[in-house]
Amino acid sequence: MNIRVITIFPDFFASCLGEGLLGKAAANGLARIEIDNLRRYAAGKHRTVDDAPYGGGPGMVMKPDVWAAAIEQARRDLPGARVALLTPQGETFTDAAARRLAREAGLVLCCGRYEGIDERVGEHLVDEWLSIGDYVLTGGEPAALAVIDAVVRQLPGVVGCAESVDTDSFTAGLKYPQYTRPPIFRGWSVPEPLLSGHHADIKAWREAEAVARTNRLRPDLAALAAAPRTRLAVREPDDWTLAAVAAAVRAYGLRELAVVSGDAARRAALREQAGVRVVRSLAEAARKWDGERLLCVATQPGPGQMSLAQAATFIGEAPAGTTIFWGDPPPGASLAAPCWDESAAPAALLAWLDRVFGWPRASRGQPF
Ligand code: SAM
Repeated sequence: MNIRVITIFPDFFASCLGEGLLGKAAANGLARIEIDNLRRYAAGKHRTVDDAPYGGGPGMVMKPDVWAAAIEQARRDLPGARVALLTPQGETFTDAAARRLAREAGLVLCCGRYEGIDERVGEHLVDEWLSIGDYVLTGGEPAALAVIDAVVRQLPGVVGCAESVDTDSFTAGLKYPQYTRPPIFRGWSVPEPLLSGHHADIKAWREAEAVARTNRLRPDLAALAAAPRTRLAVREPDDWTLAAVAAAVRAYGLRELAVVSGDAARRAALREQAGVRVVRSLAEAARKWDGERLLCVATQPGPGQMSLAQAATFIGEAPAGTTIFWGDPPPGASLAAPCWDESAAPAALLAWLDRVFGWPRASRGQPF
């Protein structure tokens, strides 16, 4: 992958990019990272890159002509590269964003300074805005480093063990706690299952710990972590709905799609489809799924329904899993409020799923 950083402080990057896995990725040709000095594109003896803001006020604003020249040069040098402006006003940079950007052929990161860059650059010349969090840095360079590190780490071959990248925090909630020798340090013991050498016990302990700490430390990620224990059930879907919910099950990593149909011929046809569990009635199936929670996304708002946040916690805290159901609520089901006021359309279910399981990608840091 080719990455270019545009900055007025090229030396900022000198030591960090040569160290550790980033250094190795560059040495092995997995990531080519170049630093472009913005002043190259500035005219005049002093190569000035900033000017006073229109309308007055504190600080200086970076000039649009200089940035335009630098970005256009980057687009010529790295055709097809995604150009991102680093700004505290951007979409919050997440693990999902790192994975997405790692699939790009190239990435150009624009680092502002002072009061930021003339608005017209962000509006017309870049592809997206990225923020590394809700605080203001003195410049985009530390943000660019964070983005480069997280993106390069996702490139195949950069981290020796791919499993480590795929099981780390935010893939599905937070990761389980890790320990190394000695087994007892200052009287603090390593949890017994990890010392047992029994693989099934270790796996079960790690899964339970990951769920418990996600619920405790990051309840906003709880539903995401519970996705592999969560089933989606729809009653008598038309072809469009079936295709859409099947795609949602795959996208959010849900456990399975169950289709409820009272029509024997339809059930037989559906059974031909890979990855779909076919059931005659939800009440009957729910008896088999004893111990699991049943959460019905309502088609109309009403009293006693869970908010999105409550529903996410409900799903996250269900040890044996949850079946999310769309349609008339079967007996014993809890009810979640729909996303929209009038939500008979299946699109409202998809929007609800996106808010609960697509977080943080879908919600820009304000989940509910
Ligand atoms: N006046 C701007 C505002 O209030 O939104 C802040 C400008 S900041 C002092 C200077 C530069 O630092 C920005 O142009 C941006 O490139 C970078 N920056 C600051 N905070 C950032 C953040 N949280 N994420 C990404 N870049 C950030």
